Amino acid sequence: MARCPECDSPIELSKKVELGEFIDCPECGTMLEVISLKPLDLDYAFGEEEWEEEWEEEEEEEI
Ligand SMILES: [Zn+2]
Repeated sequence: MARCPECDSPIELSKKVELGEFIDCPECGTMLEVISLKPLDLDYAFGEEEWEEEWEEEEEEEI
């Protein structure tokens, strides 16, 4: 069982889920990627640009 990073809903995954597998959140429909198996963890499948923007914002706050 993992949690959706978008809506925080618990997502039940099959036992044969693989690292890097894409999964749709049944609650919000966000495309997620399995980024870790132990512990099971999900992250946005296509959210790299958003992550970069967040990092830039943090850097500006520190300066
Ligand atoms: Zn969700």
